[in-house]
Amino acid sequence: MAVPYKAPVKDIVFGYEVIDSYNVLNKISAFSDFSEDIVIPTMEECAKFSEEVLAPINAIGDQQGATIKDGVVTMPEEFVDAYQKFAEAGWASISLPSDIGGGGMPITLSGGTLEILSTANLAFGLAPGLSAGAISAINFHGSQEQKDKFLPKLVSGEWTGTMNLSEPQSGSDLGTITTKAEPQEDGSYKITGTKVWITFGEHNMTENIIHLVLAKVPGSPEGTKGISMFIVPKYTVNDDGSVGDSNNVSCISIEEKLGIHASPTCVMEYDGSVGYLVGEENRGLNYMFTMMNEARVWVGGQGLACASGSLQGAAQYARDRVQGRPVGMSKEDAKNSTIIDHADVRRMLMTIKAYVDAMRYLMYDNQLMLDVEYFGEDEEMKAFGEERCGILTPITKAWISDLGVELSNIAIQVYGGMGYVEETGVAQYLRDARIAPIYEGTNGIQALDLMFRKLPLDNGQAMQRLLSDVNKVIDEMKQDDEELVSMAEKLEKEVNTLSEITLWLGSKMLEGELVDASAGATPYLKMFGQVLGGYYMGKAAILANKKFKETGDEFYKDKLTLSKFYIEQLLPLASGYASSITAGKDDLYAMKAENF
Ligand SMILES: Cc1cc2nc3c(=O)[nH]c(=O)nc-3n(C[C@H](O)[C@H](O)[C@H](O)COP(=O)(O)OP(=O)(O)OC[C@H]3O[C@@H](n4cnc5c(N)ncnc54)[C@H](O)[C@@H]3O)c2cc1C
Repeated sequence: MAVPYKAPVKDIVFGYEVIDSYNVLNKISAFSDFSEDIVIPTMEECAKFSEEVLAPINAIGDQQGATIKDGVVTMPEEFVDAYQKFAEAGWASISLPSDIGGGGMPITLSGGTLEILSTANLAFGLAPGLSAGAISAINFHGSQEQKDKFLPKLVSGEWTGTMNLSEPQSGSDLGTITTKAEPQEDGSYKITGTKVWITFGEHNMTENIIHLVLAKVPGSPEGTKGISMFIVPKYTVNDDGSVGDSNNVSCISIEEKLGIHASPTCVMEYDGSVGYLVGEENRGLNYMFTMMNEARVWVGGQGLACASGSLQGAAQYARDRVQGRPVGMSKEDAKNSTIIDHADVRRMLMTIKAYVDAMRYLMYDNQLMLDVEYFGEDEEMKAFGEERCGILTPITKAWISDLGVELSNIAIQVYGGMGYVEETGVAQYLRDARIAPIYEGTNGIQALDLMFRKLPLDNGQAMQRLLSDVNKVIDEMKQDDEELVSMAEKLEKEVNTLSEITLWLGSKMLEGELVDASAGATPYLKMFGQVLGGYYMGKAAILANKKFKETGDEFYKDKLTLSKFYIEQLLPLASGYASSITAGKDDLYAMKAENF
């Protein structure tokens, strides 16, 4: 039996303190009263809803999945019911701006709620997650008329939204899309084409679905410069906001896939469907990019969710399962021992738990920087948020989503054979986690983004500013207790290696050795993630040490232990990537393609 989900509210609340969210947000007038008094009850409510409504149907969604018959996609009935409750409770709109009917809370608050909701039921969370992307697109770039017509019911959750980018020949490279948008006399467009992989492209949880579709207007420039964005409702919307006629939007099939079975992945056909241009022609991809940061951070959060969820079951199983006498334990003591007493099982659990903390802080901090970028009080603050988000986002997306797979895999190993059978539920986490490194820009593309777009920002000064923030934490740790001083020295060693490698990559790029640099992109991102993890765990150590002295609460002592474990035993993996980063392209291209 799967272990019932219990949201780690105390860990989440601690995370908000580690990233100093209250001080940062209180400098923004809209969030001047943001505090634990908001975070704690929100997380408790979200935990209650997720534990009682979403988690119990997670396995049902996995086993039944969404089904399709004659173009009609049917969700398990428990999902339809849960969705109504979700929308009614306002979870769909908590961090959306209040002027469009949202809760007006900072994006940072959704770090914790997304973590909880996604851990309880990742497939379910994709419907409101994609809607949030569509809402942002319309809100940032749509006309007032479009906002008035489509936003109220998207924000309330009465309708869901989708993002239609991919086509069979256009995945990572969207410049090759062929979906056509023909201008009509009334100012609308006729949209014709096939989109693939569309998450929740069709379902029976709401009465309408608002698709955001990328398409090309005839005569527009070649490649990505000629892409426009359109609102294409499943059913047309009347002036009074009610649902009108069919808009020739159909779902041809849904994919059989490894995980997230209750999230229908649809092949969508648009057959002269009425579409409304968002913003200006040919700016569609720019508009998409403005939302990408939010979406990518959320996908990183999906890795966190799967790792965190799989840990709970694994830890419980390890406390219960009796097997073997741990090395060094007397026969008498071993009578009461379980596999959690074996050093190797401990190592697995510590690895997951320490990484989960580091992943959480990184993801939350990335969201905090989104708030600073969007809502900062002045241009300087906004520019800082944008710069920091630019660097953190590819790392949050790729490093955390890769770890989501790796750590749920380790959780299966904790169970032994019972991890491989479905009844414990841990296998679902691994299967569900596997999509996150692929969609929303593959992790390979994130690594290239970090290397070629983010590393050169402000001639490399943006990177240096981040690394100098890491060094400030190291200095602070050096002023602390002996244990933290020792941790600081280890962190410093890894940061210095990262700085050297970053400079080396910068010089390679200046010399025009771009293929050599690209060959090291993924190991560079992994090294960066590992070091950033150390930075956040350093911050957590300082805070936990202080709080333990103040309160004597074992929770903080454990946090200190986890930071120490991360910095001493996981962080050193960072410099291990150095030789792959600097090796260049030669070995990678030495073999002929047909010899693989
Ligand atoms: C379950 C699921 C849900 C999805 N939901 C949506 C959705 O809602 N809306 C939507 O529009 N799309 C969606 N997608 C599509 C998803 O975004 C794409 O699968 C993804 O962008 C990768 O594109 P691709 O599959 O064509 O792979 P490809 O682009 O063909 O990539 C294959 C491999 O080549 C690598 N590669 C490609 N180009 C480069 C390059 N320039 N440099 C280095 N490496 C490169 C990639 O990293 C990858 O490893 C979904 C996909 C799945 C599986």
